[in-house]
Amino acid sequence: MTVVHSEHSAVPAGEVEVVLDLRASTLSLSGAAQYAELWNQLESALLGQSLRTGAPYQWSSHFGDITVEIVRLAPGVTVTHENTRFDVVAVRERATLSYRCATCAELGKETYGPFVCRGCADAGRRDRVCDEHVVILDGALITACPLHRPECGECRQPATFRCAGPRCRTKTAWCDAHRVAHPEDPDTDYCPSCYQLVFPVCEHSGCNGVGTMACDIVDGSGHPCGRQACTRHALRWQVFGHERTGLGLCKQHHAALRGTAPVELMRQIVSTAARRSDDFRTPRLVSFGHNLRNTGHRQLAVDYRSIYEQLRRLRDDCEGSGDRHVAGALRRADAGWQRELAALVGTAEEGERLLARLRLLVEQQDGRRGPEIAAALRLVEFKAPRVRNGVTERRGILFIDLPAPLRGLFIGAKGVNVARYRTELGVDVKFEGDRSRR
Ligand SMILES: [Zn+2]
Ligand SMILES: [Zn+2]
Ligand SMILES: [Zn+2]
Ligand SMILES: [Zn+2]
Ligand SMILES: [Zn+2]
Ligand SMILES: [Zn+2]
Repeated sequence: MTVVHSEHSAVPAGEVEVVLDLRASTLSLSGAAQYAELWNQLESALLGQSLRTGAPYQWSSHFGDITVEIVRLAPGVTVTHENTRFDVVAVRERATLSYRCATCAELGKETYGPFVCRGCADAGRRDRVCDEHVVILDGALITACPLHRPECGECRQPATFRCAGPRCRTKTAWCDAHRVAHPEDPDTDYCPSCYQLVFPVCEHSGCNGVGTMACDIVDGSGHPCGRQACTRHALRWQVFGHERTGLGLCKQHHAALRGTAPVELMRQIVSTAARRSDDFRTPRLVSFGHNLRNTGHRQLAVDYRSIYEQLRRLRDDCEGSGDRHVAGALRRADAGWQRELAALVGTAEEGERLLARLRLLVEQQDGRRGPEIAAALRLVEFKAPRVRNGVTERRGILFIDLPAPLRGLFIGAKGVNVARYRTELGVDVKFEGDRSRR
C-alpha cells in the first residue's frame, strides 16, 4: 500500500482516491513528507477494510479526529490489500491562522492568539498569545507570552503583579515575596519601597501604626531625616508655641537633642520654619531663648544679644554653603530681630535695676541673713509687662534663681516677704522653676 500525495500532480496514479480531512484535529502539516508520515500511521487501520465511495473512515487521535473519505475507486477494488495504491487528492485543513500562538505552535498546536506580547514585538516576531498562554499580571492589563513574563524588580523571580505605587506607576513588576497589599483595596498592591512611601510605618519597633509624623531634623545638606512615627509615638519639640505644630523628632534625634550645639538647634528651627508655608514666620528671639532653655542652655537662653549674633553667623554660613532657603528665611527675619533685640536689651537693663532694688529690700527685711540671701540672688530674666491699648494685660515678671535652702527665708512665713517685694517693685517675683511651660 502506497500513498501518492497528488495535490500538484495532473494525473491521479492510485487505485483509491481519498480526501484527508484534518479540520477536527489540531495538526498542522507542511510538505509531502509530513503527509506521508501521517499516512503511514493511518494505513494499518485501513488494511482489510472494505472500500466504498462516500464512506468515511475516522480515527480519534490525541491530535483530535482524522477522517479519510473515499472519492473514487478503480474498477474491481473492494478491499484494502497490502499493495493497494492510495492517492490523496485533497487535504482539508482549517484556514491558516493569521495570528498564531507561538507557545501553542511549539507544542504542535495551531491556536488563534488574540493577545500581543511586547517582548515578542521588540524581538521582531509577529507571534501572538492565546487565552490559555497569555500572561497578565495583577495591577495592569499588560499582556505577555510565557517567555517574556516580567521578572521581579528585586529578586529576578517570575513576577506576579505590577506595583501601583508612585515610583513604579504600574510599570515595574514584582514577585509575591515582594508584594505588599493595600490595607483596604484588595486589587491594589505595592512593592515594599512604594508601600513605605504611600503608607509610612511607625519607626517604633512592634508598632504597625501609620507614620503621620516625619522627623524634621535636617542633615548638613538640608535633607530631612524623614523617619516616621504614628500619632501615638510621635515626638515633638514645640518650638513654635502650642498653637503650631512643632518639630517632628524620631527617637534618635529626640535623644540627641540635649547634646546638640545651640547654633545647630537654631539651624534646625529655622530650616523647618523655612520649609513650611510662606505665612509661617521665623520665631522671635524670645522663642529661641525659650527653646534653648528647654534643651539645657540656660545661660545663652537669656542672652539675646548672643542669640542674635549666632543667628547672624548662621546666615553667613548658609549663604556660603548655598542653603538659600534657610539664608532667605534668616534675611527676612533680621529687621524684626533687630527691633526685638533693642526692646529686650532695654528690658534686660530694667531687670538688672529691679534686681538691685530687690537685693536692697531683702537686706532690709532680714538684718541677720539678709545680706547672704541678697548676694545669692541671680537674675534669670525680666519679662516686661504686656500692655495693649493702654491697658496692662499682664504685670512684669522678675524671674530669679536662689539656692533651695535659702528660698524659704526669702519667701517668708505664708509668703509675707515676697508679697511685700511684689508691692514695692510693682512686678511679680518668681523662681525660674515657676515659669509656666509654653
Ligand atoms: Zn497558546
Ligand atoms: Zn513574548
Ligand atoms: Zn521578588
Ligand atoms: Zn513600587
Ligand atoms: Zn507607633
Ligand atoms: Zn530623625
